[in-house]
Amino acid sequence: MSLCADLHCHSVYSDGTLLPAELVRRAVAAGVELLSLTDHDATGGLEEAAREARACSLGFLPGIELSTTWAERNIHVVGLGIDPDQPLLREGIARIAEIRLRRAEAIAGRLGRAGIPDTLNDALALAGPGTVTRSHFARCLLARGQVGNLQQAFDRYLGRGKPAHVCVVWISIEEAVQWIQAAGGVPVLAHPLRYGLSGAWTRRLLEAFRSAGGKGLEVISGPQHKSQTDLLADHAMKHGFLASCGSDFHTPDQRWCRLGMAGAGALPAKNTPVWSVWPEMRFAGEPG
Ligand code: AMP
Ligand code: MN
Ligand code: MN
Ligand code: MN
Repeated sequence: MSLCADLHCHSVYSDGTLLPAELVRRAVAAGVELLSLTDHDATGGLEEAAREARACSLGFLPGIELSTTWAERNIHVVGLGIDPDQPLLREGIARIAEIRLRRAEAIAGRLGRAGIPDTLNDALALAGPGTVTRSHFARCLLARGQVGNLQQAFDRYLGRGKPAHVCVVWISIEEAVQWIQAAGGVPVLAHPLRYGLSGAWTRRLLEAFRSAGGKGLEVISGPQHKSQTDLLADHAMKHGFLASCGSDFHTPDQRWCRLGMAGAGALPAKNTPVWSVWPEMRFAGEPG
């Protein structure tokens, strides 16, 4: 029997708009049987999500999405089944929080020079308890009427090569894998086709991630074409990766990206699902 898993989504603890408990309730309503909350460089929402998941009898894996730099690209590594209290991971998260804060100051400086002053406090207020991300600056620009929608904020100001883009060096892929493994989790390469890499560079990335100790690949990430699923399923087989799937849900406002959309038995049968790592977990609808 296939499992409806969603192993990649965001709450207000990074750039999502839902509280963790609300996210869990919506996942249950959407038919999700196994959920992982994977906020950007943050674990603050995991306790609330785990508590609500227990109350709803939903399978839950504590997760995270770490920001790394590889070949001057921003590559995301998801950790599934992590212990958020593990010291190496905790110290690492604090280090990235510092990078994010310094970058936010620099972004605000650049926006100021582009004629949009005093955005730092707005972005920090919008981030609330969560990590401050470019999405918060995008929301600030939208609220001020500087752009007509969030995509425009990236296209005009925050995206790579735009006036308020700030290059930072995040952690390395090796560090991300080490921290996740130290915390007892499984490192998974997030959305491999969303980095704008050529086929050759994608293969290089997969090899680098594998040699760093990476174990899984998101074969399905949100809305994608079947040809992309087939390509990633082949990559997973060729490089010996477990297959993961996740919506990368951020907000109900994005109607094209819904909780559970990636995981209802859609992983190709030839792949080994990443949840085979936790044989002791029993999910609703599964025998035994
Ligand atoms: P950050 O990690 O702070 O650089 O923020 C990145 C987040 O901004 C991503 O996780 C996406 O949610 C969002 N994002 C990045 N690029 C774009 C884009 N071109 N359009 C819309 N959202 C984007
Ligand atoms: Mn995001
Ligand atoms: Mn990502
Ligand atoms: Mn994500």
